Amino acid sequence: MRAADEVAGDGGGAAEPGVLELGLPAPVRADGLPRRVRIHEVGARDGLQNEKAVVPTAVKAEFVHRLADAGLGTVEATSFVRPSWVPQLADAAELMPLLADLAGRDPAVRLPVLVPNERGLERALDLGVREIAVFGSATESFARANLNRTVAQSLEMFEPVVARAGQEGLAVRGYLSMCFGDPWEGPVPPAQVAAVARRLYAMGCTELSLGDTIGVATPGQVAALLDELTGSDGPIPVERLAVHFHDTYGQALANTLAALQRGVTVVDASAGGLGGCPYAKSATGNLATEDLVWMLDGLGIDTGVDLDRLSATSVWMAEQLGRPSPSRTVRALTHREQ
Ligand code: MG
Repeated sequence: MRAADEVAGDGGGAAEPGVLELGLPAPVRADGLPRRVRIHEVGARDGLQNEKAVVPTAVKAEFVHRLADAGLGTVEATSFVRPSWVPQLADAAELMPLLADLAGRDPAVRLPVLVPNERGLERALDLGVREIAVFGSATESFARANLNRTVAQSLEMFEPVVARAGQEGLAVRGYLSMCFGDPWEGPVPPAQVAAVARRLYAMGCTELSLGDTIGVATPGQVAALLDELTGSDGPIPVERLAVHFHDTYGQALANTLAALQRGVTVVDASAGGLGGCPYAKSATGNLATEDLVWMLDGLGIDTGVDLDRLSATSVWMAEQLGRPSPSRTVRALTHREQ
C-alpha cells in the first residue's frame, strides 16, 4: 500500500509533503571540503562475498552494469581468491568477459578485482584486468584469521604481486583491514597502521584503502590516523588514501565527513549497504552508497552518481537476494513502492 494513497485516497496523485517529494537534498556547500569525490563501489565484491546464497553470474553482470549506468565510475567486480575460500565469487573468470563492454566505454568504467597472490594475478591478467587490489591487515590477529599468515608474511606474499602488476602498468589498491579496532586486540594504534600502510605504499600500491572492518571508529580516530599517515614521518600523499567505513555503530557518515575534512577524495561504499563482516557480531555492513551520495549531494560535492537510478538498482538487487536493503536512503526514497 502506498502511503500517499492512504492519505489522499485518490490513486496517488496527491503530493506528499517534504523532502521525499523532492527526491534529492538541496545542496549547501561547506568550507574545506573537496569539489568532487570518487566513489569506489564495492557491492559486487565486498558486498556479495558475504552473501551465503550464490548469486547467478548473469545477475552479477547485470548488477555491475546497472551500477555503472547509475554513474559509478569505479566498480570493484569480483575476486580471484581460491574458489573454495569464497564460493560466491568462484565465477570470476566467467564474469569478467561479460563486463568487457564497460571497460570499452568512454570514459572507461574501472573494474578492479581482488587478487590474493601471483596465481590470482596471472588469472586476472589473462582476462584483461587493468586494476587489482590486495587485501592486507593492520593487525596480527586478523592477518592470521583471514590470511593464515603474520602481517610480515602477508606483505612478503603481496610484494611480487604488486611488483608484477606495476610492470604490467596496472593500478594496485592496497586494502588495510582493522585500521581502528580489532575484535581480538581492541583499539589499534595509528602508528601500527601507518607502519603497514607505508610498507604497502613503498612496494608500489597506488592507493591505500583504510578499512574500519568492524565499524567501531569515531571521527576523532579517523582524523588522528590520517594525520599520522600524512605526517612528517614518511608521509603518504592524501590523494593516495581512500576510506572504507562500516556502519555497525552508525558512525560511517560522520567518519566519512572527518576524512573529507582531512582532504580524502576517494570513499568506498556498497550499493544498498550490501555485505557485512563475519568478524563483527551484529555485522551491519558497509556504508551504503546511497547514504553516502545523499550526504555528498547535500554538500554540493560532485560524484557523477544518479541517486534515483542507484536506489532502484539496490531495490532490484534486494529482490534478487530476497530481503530489503538496510540503507536508510534506499528505504526513504522507495518506501512508497514497498
Ligand atoms: Mg567492507
